[in-house]
Amino acid sequence: MWHFYLIGLFMKSVRIKNSKEEFTIGKIVCVGRNYAEHARELGNELAEKPVLFLKPASTLIYSGEEIIHPDYGNELHHEVELILLIGETIKNADKTAAERAIIGYGVGLDMTLRDVQDGLKKKGHPWTLAKCFDTSAVVSDFILKNDYKLKLDEKLELKVNGVTKQSDTSKSMIFNPTEIVEYISTIMTLEKGDLIFTGTPSGVGRVSRGDKLEAKLGEIAELSCTVC
Ligand code: MG
Repeated sequence: MWHFYLIGLFMKSVRIKNSKEEFTIGKIVCVGRNYAEHARELGNELAEKPVLFLKPASTLIYSGEEIIHPDYGNELHHEVELILLIGETIKNADKTAAERAIIGYGVGLDMTLRDVQDGLKKKGHPWTLAKCFDTSAVVSDFILKNDYKLKLDEKLELKVNGVTKQSDTSKSMIFNPTEIVEYISTIMTLEKGDLIFTGTPSGVGRVSRGDKLEAKLGEIAELSCTVC
């Protein structure tokens, strides 16, 4: 019994605005190259299907915590993203089931060691070292769909030390949230508490130790953290 208690202490959960309901985070699925301008700024071709990778839930930190800059890379980049919260188990979902399974939204940072990622890409290796270090996923509190209907015209914004670096809306996405969830569910079962990072708009760039990062999704979600 104490064994399960200890596991519970280390499992991360999502905080929900206006709700006491807890969502223990399962897996974090991330979409790459979902904004054409961003794909171009990194010299990538546009994908015909969403590009997917995973982050372990243990990488996750909350607003107000510190991003720890790994010492094996030099170019730590910010990527601000709309995050979807999954509320039920789905597999091979159609559009209706995919839409229903998304029960909340938040804003997050997919922190990326770009120089490490470039090296891995050249070797044809997985992106794990560039994307899955501790503190590489930062999340806001979430808002339930019942409390707010996402229009996709909410501004997705990131500031570094008060200067706007990324600013766009989710209307510029290549694959919209429903299409993303529908597609992921053909590859892997999605479950209550899974998070989906939906890709970043253009304007990604390097951050340094001491920088303050602030991210917003319209007026519904926000986070701030520093790099150390
Ligand atoms: Mg990303």
